[in-house]
Amino acid sequence: MNKIKVIVAGPRGRMGHEAVKLVHNTDHFELSAVLDTKYNGMNLSEIEGFTGIEAPVFTDIDECFSSAEADVLIDLTTPVVGMKHAVKALEYNIRPVVGTTGFTKNDLETLERLTAEKELGCIIAPNFAIGAILMMKFSQMAAKYFEDVEILELHHDQKLDAPSGTAVKTAEMISKVRKYKKQGHHEEKETIPGARGADMDGMRIHSVRLPGLVAHQQVMFGMEGQQLTIRHDSFNRASFMSGVKLAVEEAMKINVLVYGLENIIE
Ligand code: NAP
Repeated sequence: MNKIKVIVAGPRGRMGHEAVKLVHNTDHFELSAVLDTKYNGMNLSEIEGFTGIEAPVFTDIDECFSSAEADVLIDLTTPVVGMKHAVKALEYNIRPVVGTTGFTKNDLETLERLTAEKELGCIIAPNFAIGAILMMKFSQMAAKYFEDVEILELHHDQKLDAPSGTAVKTAEMISKVRKYKKQGHHEEKETIPGARGADMDGMRIHSVRLPGLVAHQQVMFGMEGQQLTIRHDSFNRASFMSGVKLAVEEAMKINVLVYGLENIIE
């Protein structure tokens, strides 16, 4: 079996570092190169934290994608950079597997069109943790019966986007089955703006940012006399890697854009 050749963008980031280790430690994956903001021309093994992991480092996208042979790009950077990388990867016939969050609807539509034109696989997953995918699916099941729902997402204080991609994705999945309802009292007034969180299809999303947290989400459903809470916690970045591995493998088998790991997990 041919190895799947992978480029990782953002290798020194918290997620990127785990992804590099995953690719390095997976027998049927091969690390072709990394795309970084510095250390151009060096070998990854010379950089602190990557001893024994060989791969050329590039800072220029075109140079990276034209020099390193690759099947898949794993992007774990920032929303604007991630979008640029994904578009460029498709140009070079490399399948993007994007964990970077904060992509807009417009970004997704653009990537869907480019993916269809190229007939290449592309996976955008706001959350790679299998437990988080189940939390979203269970929430969607519950939303058929509970139309009152508040999403509380909690992350580390270095996160750039709010609400989290997972919270948005959860709300989108719930919207598909939930009878529309504008929550709270119809005369409700915020005395401090933002007190009731973000409004998405009448549901409320609350974002907590604290040092020490990783990625956590609680979906709370209420009905007269009862409450249902569905919660998932990622305690470290390794929790996302089984999903990254699955996405890399799946990206090789499909020729469309898949948004959300729940679409490839039965
Ligand atoms: P992080 O620690 O800040 O890492 C981001 C990395 O991207 C940094 O090393 C940064 O390098 C690098 N970078 C920025 N611009 C770049 C460019 N032009 N080329 C190459 N690398 C570039 O963030 P993180 O916690 O790893 O998270 C990364 C992304 O993954 C975020 O969008 C986060 O929300 C998302 N995330 C997704 C999941 C999931 O399951 N899908 C889970 C957790 C996090 P510099 O430091 O030099 O700028």
